[in-house]
Amino acid sequence: RAKEQGRNQMEAYQPSMSHMADERLALERNLRKAIERDELVLYYQPQIDLTDGRVCGMEALVRWNSPEHGMVPPLQFIPFAEECGLIVPLGDWVLRNACLQCKHWQDQGLPALKVAVNISTLQFHQLHFADKVQAVLEETGLEAKYLCLEITESVAIQNEEQALALLNQLTALGISIAIDDFGTGFSSLSLLHKLPVHQIKIDKSFIGDKSPQGAQIAKSIISLSRSLNMNVLAEGVETEEQYDFLAQHKCDSIQGYLISRPVSAYEFEQWHRARLNSISNQKRDFAVQR
Ligand code: C2E
Ligand code: MG
Ligand code: MG
Ligand code: MG
Repeated sequence: RAKEQGRNQMEAYQPSMSHMADERLALERNLRKAIERDELVLYYQPQIDLTDGRVCGMEALVRWNSPEHGMVPPLQFIPFAEECGLIVPLGDWVLRNACLQCKHWQDQGLPALKVAVNISTLQFHQLHFADKVQAVLEETGLEAKYLCLEITESVAIQNEEQALALLNQLTALGISIAIDDFGTGFSSLSLLHKLPVHQIKIDKSFIGDKSPQGAQIAKSIISLSRSLNMNVLAEGVETEEQYDFLAQHKCDSIQGYLISRPVSAYEFEQWHRARLNSISNQKRDFAVQR
């Protein structure tokens, strides 16, 4: 009877499963084409130094500008790209284009900023990843000190030895490493202090948490970063209150809608130029007043 049920279930599921498989194949095909046809776009979100209010960096965040579906956010295709392996060519595209854009802005005479690029597990653990990154830097002409790679705690935990060796290779090139979404993964503090990490990014869930626990966790991560000699950035800062709290507790830098949403390269440049102007106007006004 169980056997019969099993068979019936199989029969019942087969059509929808093959339908799903078809859909996945179609999505994979579309995404592959998207990479080839340059349908991917990078948006940039500024990072602000809390000590002087200056823009100190930007995070590159990919979107898929699909002719069919419009601007598709990354969480709708990155996890799938990771599953089917397309994250490797997609990640190559992101890395190369983020470096090109960063170098382009430097060549335009804008103040040199660091660009942060998200690296997924599969991408990080591919063979010769460090050589690939080095080749991209050489090809684009971007100095290694302007590149930051964001990995998550789980990436480092997955294959400790290999991750440590690779991170050492990358930092030897002069690249910096950030731990993204910190506090949401399986944080192994004993591992963290062994890794050559420059920055910890406090996950936005703690910043947006209105309960006292959220604030407490944010404070703890700031002091943890201090004691590990790491720089600390808060993600998802949306309000003045959050800004003041983080400044008061000596968080190094922030990123969030309060400053700017992620925007296209064109919009980022306009926004950055306007901000530079208003800062220099403020300084001039100040000098005149004195
Ligand atoms: P993430 O790396 O943690 O990036 C920060 C996400 O938080 C971005 O979402 C950003 O738009 C959003 N965010 C920034 N400030 C605020 C805020 O004040 N409030 C709120 N509610 N959200 C804020 P986005 O662009 O949708 O990206 C989502 C995730 O997709 C990223 O999270 C990252 O894990 C992944 N991702 C994006 N681009 C890439 C990429 O090129 N490669 C890989 N592997 N993953 C990527
Ligand atoms: Mg990130
Ligand atoms: Mg991330
Ligand atoms: Mg994050």
